[in-house]
Amino acid sequence: MAAGEFPITEVRVKLTGDSQSKVRAFCSVTLADRFVIRDVKIIDGGRGAFIAMPSRKLTDKCDRCHHKNHLRALYCNQCGARLDPDRAGRDAAGRVRLHADLAHPINSACRIELHRAVLQAYDEEIERSKQEGYVPPSFDDLDGGDDLYDEQYVVDLQRRQVERQRQRGAEPDQGFAVEGA
Ligand SMILES: [Zn+2]
Repeated sequence: MAAGEFPITEVRVKLTGDSQSKVRAFCSVTLADRFVIRDVKIIDGGRGAFIAMPSRKLTDKCDRCHHKNHLRALYCNQCGARLDPDRAGRDAAGRVRLHADLAHPINSACRIELHRAVLQAYDEEIERSKQEGYVPPSFDDLDGGDDLYDEQYVVDLQRRQVERQRQRGAEPDQGFAVEGA
């Protein structure tokens, strides 16, 4: 997905305005004026901001009643059966995967393009927010909810970001990376 073929044409940023939360903003990213990706989050866990792509929690089925439970659940939500706490799948590096990204850049060129566009829009929105009479954009149905924030997921994303930076080696740490892939 080269920039010329499917350019990012709009990024909308809604700042959470909550300094206690690691989630600093919710964003929507529009490609080529034709396709929109929502629920992109900007997260700052103290080691630099990064982007979290929209994702969903992974689940598996209870052996007894076949109800689907989140992988971190210790007991089945339906029948109360005790669940194997170590049942989550692990990736090649041995890390537990609790979430899967629903949309994400596939190559580093696209990741960098997305990073730049979202970071720029984020900075611009922060500047706007300092002006008198600032009215934050409304995303209506994406304006909150427990599902949008998961402490364990943030920790997971931070770890992945640090590892990606380590893999890049010589590249300077930009302090802002795009999660995904
Ligand atoms: Zn069950």
